[in-house]
Amino acid sequence: MGSDNKVVVIGLDGGTLSLIENWVKKGKLPTFSRIMREGVYGNLRSTIPWYSAPAWVSIVTGCQPGKHGIYDFFRTDSFSKKIVSSRLRKVPAVWNLLTENDRNSIIVNVPGTYPPEKINGVMITGLLTPSPDSMYTYPPSIKKELMPGKLGRYELEQVAVDDIPKGLTARYAPERLAEQVNAITTSHATVTMNLMERYKWDFTMVVFRGTDDVQHLLWNRMDLILSCYQKADGYIGRMIDRYPDATFIIVSDHGFGKPKKYLYVNNALYNAGYLKTKGNPTHNMQTLTAAFFEKTSRILFHILPIQKIARSSIGRKLILSSSAASSIDFDSSKAFYHSVCSRGIRIIRRDKYGRGVVDEDNYEKVRGELIEFLKNIRDPDTNENIVEKVYRWEEIYGEDAVNDPLDIIFDLKEEYGAQELLQPPQGLRSMLRSTSKLEILSPPGFYDWLGDHRRNGILFMYGRNIEKGKNVNASVLDITPTVLALLDVPIPTYIDGELISNAFIEKIEVKHVEHREKKLTEAELKKIRKLRLKL
Ligand SMILES: [Zn+2]
Repeated sequence: MGSDNKVVVIGLDGGTLSLIENWVKKGKLPTFSRIMREGVYGNLRSTIPWYSAPAWVSIVTGCQPGKHGIYDFFRTDSFSKKIVSSRLRKVPAVWNLLTENDRNSIIVNVPGTYPPEKINGVMITGLLTPSPDSMYTYPPSIKKELMPGKLGRYELEQVAVDDIPKGLTARYAPERLAEQVNAITTSHATVTMNLMERYKWDFTMVVFRGTDDVQHLLWNRMDLILSCYQKADGYIGRMIDRYPDATFIIVSDHGFGKPKKYLYVNNALYNAGYLKTKGNPTHNMQTLTAAFFEKTSRILFHILPIQKIARSSIGRKLILSSSAASSIDFDSSKAFYHSVCSRGIRIIRRDKYGRGVVDEDNYEKVRGELIEFLKNIRDPDTNENIVEKVYRWEEIYGEDAVNDPLDIIFDLKEEYGAQELLQPPQGLRSMLRSTSKLEILSPPGFYDWLGDHRRNGILFMYGRNIEKGKNVNASVLDITPTVLALLDVPIPTYIDGELISNAFIEKIEVKHVEHREKKLTEAELKKIRKLRLKL
């Protein structure tokens, strides 16, 4: 294998193998069908937790979250919602390693890449880019070319901010949501293919995110979900036809399934006295607003330009500040559930954060109690425990984990999802009842997703040296080392993943190299500790 190889990684956020296999059998996904016959496919095991931010960063670094430091969409070292950025990533990404080795990359819409990095090639950042006004391309001149007639229009998605408009569209105009999502896929595919024509590249990576949106919001409309897989299938087919000599790797960050019930984690912590609130959560402003919004959402959706309002600077601020965090009294609480996708609990240590009621001395005692508490949460309908596993952070991320991981991480049994909202799941109904306990379990309601993540994502590989019709399973950690090996670039020894060797007909030579990890200096650590005390 020489260095004139080309590799294309296409991400299908939330891509799910069982759905693809089923549609392939029915002849609905010609490209996936071709790859299953002429390439390899299987499960791609995700990170803990199996959510986009940690998983995509593991895909592009080959490292587990404790090493790269991205655990959630939101910073774990903050009590308010601060979106993570590429500056927090503590290890190089595949495009940095390729740049160091004189290879060129085209990177489009990969979550967590903002701010864009200086690389050999072109980068357009994806989800977690703060706003369309941000400088989200490298080189900066590319931004001006993102218009019809040049590179094509680029649809920038905005985490959290787009959730309300998307949720309402799914509820009141599901076909329109599928159309919007497919238009976004078209925009990202078009820009990527135009870049591939105009720029020199050895490695191209693009992530299509529409599949995640529709599976969360339209799990009751498999026809519309299929249309989004078909859209991606079409573009993947076109890229394969255009670059028949390249090796294609199609991946997802996790899979999808249907949750039976949601666990309202902060409600459970409130009932047990670990979390204290400002005001009574059954009657406070937040709960009232939520109940009012639920009742009027249909009308609001039809009369207001919801997306425009949400994306305005005021709407954006309002949305990011209206999370559960705003009604938690951090100064008198012991712990809280960090965010909907975190699957993790923060214990508020006074010595570390300057708030809360837990000290260094009783930290382990509180942590032990909380772990027992989580293990014992039962579904009253079945009397079974709903928490699958509970970990202390160091057990999964290692003692050297960077960027302050949450204190306790947990997995729920597969048919359960987790919610962050601190309020009664049944809104008004609970407000009328005079009970001091909040409901902790609820079937998917107004504020919940219809579909939620599963740990196994997809892996499809196709190319001249790829085996045919074989089942190959791997981990999200294995993508970066496989790309490096294919491009004849040595794999740094700090990388946790391995070459997916059983996917290849002819053995691929692997070279390893010692690579200095980006470690924080003492001055940087001091600055972080100071900032924490100010939170
Ligand atoms: Zn998702």
